[in-house]
Amino acid sequence: MKIVAAEVVVTSPGRNFVTLRLTTEDGLVGLGDGTLNGRELAVASYLQDHVVPLLLGRDAHAIEDTWQLLYRSAYWRRGPVTMSAIAAVDVALWDLKAKAAGMPLYQLLGGASRAGILAYGHASGRDTDELFDSIRHHLELGFRAIRVQTAVPGIDAVYGVPTRPATPGGRHDDYEPAQRAPLPAEEDWDTAAYLRHIPTVFEAVRSEFGAELPLLHDGHHRMTPIQAARLGRALEPYDLFWLEDCTPAENQESLRLVRHHTTTPLAIGEVFNTVWDYQTLIREQLIDYVRSSVTHTGGITAMRKLLDYAALYQVKSGIHGPTDISPVGMAAALHLDLAIHNFGIQELMPHGSLTNEVFRQTYTFEDGYLHPGEEPGLGVELDEEAAARFPYEPAYLPFNRLKDGTVHDW
Ligand SMILES: [Mg+2]
Repeated sequence: MKIVAAEVVVTSPGRNFVTLRLTTEDGLVGLGDGTLNGRELAVASYLQDHVVPLLLGRDAHAIEDTWQLLYRSAYWRRGPVTMSAIAAVDVALWDLKAKAAGMPLYQLLGGASRAGILAYGHASGRDTDELFDSIRHHLELGFRAIRVQTAVPGIDAVYGVPTRPATPGGRHDDYEPAQRAPLPAEEDWDTAAYLRHIPTVFEAVRSEFGAELPLLHDGHHRMTPIQAARLGRALEPYDLFWLEDCTPAENQESLRLVRHHTTTPLAIGEVFNTVWDYQTLIREQLIDYVRSSVTHTGGITAMRKLLDYAALYQVKSGIHGPTDISPVGMAAALHLDLAIHNFGIQELMPHGSLTNEVFRQTYTFEDGYLHPGEEPGLGVELDEEAAARFPYEPAYLPFNRLKDGTVHDW
C-alpha cells in the first residue's frame, strides 16, 4: 500500500484547519488533522517542507514504524508543532489501514467497548439568567453533561463566555476565542474576583437544575496551585464531574498541592503533547482525566499508549474537542473513545455549517451520546472544491493582562 501523493490542505470555513491528505497507489485516500489554533501555518510548513518528502513511496501499512521515524529522525523532540504534524500523518495512516480493511477504525483498535460516547457541551452566560437559558438550551439539544462558564463581575472578557452573539440576534453561547485579525485581542483578568464568584454560580446552578446533572468547569490555567486548591475545595458541595486546567501544569509536581487539599476531580492536558507531560501526574494519581487531543498529541498511536498508561492508574479519558479540532480530528477521537476501556467523557463543540460543507462526516450525536458511524476508516471526507473556496485567514487566540498591566496566563 505505497503512498503516492501527500497534500497539505489549509482551509478556513469559518476558522482555520490544516488537513493532510494521503493517497495510495491503489487510490485509497486517508485524512489527518494537523490544526494548531493560531499557529496553523507552522504545522502546514512542517508537513509540506519536511514530512511529505519522507512519506512518498513509503508503505502506508507501517504505522508504528512511520511514527517512530518521524519522532526520532527529526532529532528535535516533542512540542505542539512537531506532535500535531506527526498526528496528521498517523491519523491519515489509520484512516487508510481501516479503509483497506473495509472496517470502521474503532474495529482495528479492538472493537467497541460501549454503545455510545457520553459528550459534554458548553453552556455559558453573562449573568445567571443567560447561563440558565444556555443550560436549558443544551439540555434540549440532548446533552447529559454540561460545562458551566460565566462572566465575573469586574472582568470585561472571560474565557468561555461570548461578549456578543456570533450572529446578530443569535445566542451568546456560540463561543469562539480565536479572532480573525492581524493581532491578538487583549483581555483582562482578576483571580481574586473569579475565586469569589464561581462557587456562587455553582450553588445557583445546583439549586435550579438539581443534584444529578453532571457539571464541569474550566479554570483555563489561571490559578496558582494554592488558589486552585481553594477553588476545588469550595466547589466540593456542588459535586463537579471535573475541574479542568486549574493551574498551568508544566510543573507537574504542583498538582500534588492541589490534590492534597481537595476531592474535586481534576482534568488536565489540552496543551500537552506527549505522554512525558503526564508522567508524574498519572503515576502519582494527581489527576483523574487526560485532556489531550488526538490532533496535538501525535495521533492515535501515541494517544492509545498514553491512555493505556493512564488506565493502569485508574485515570480516564476526557479528550479535547473544541471547534479547533477539525471533523477529521474529532472522528479520530471518537473511534478511540469507543474502543478504549478507560473512557471518561468527550468534549463536543459542534462545528458550524461552513465547516460541515468542507468536511462530510458520518459521526452522530443523539440523546447525549456520540458515535463515529460504520463507514470504513474515519468516516470523514474532504470536499476539496469547497475547501478551496475558504482561503486561510490570520487568527489569534487572545491573551490576558492583569489590572497593573502584567501579562497573565490566558
Ligand atoms: Mg479547556
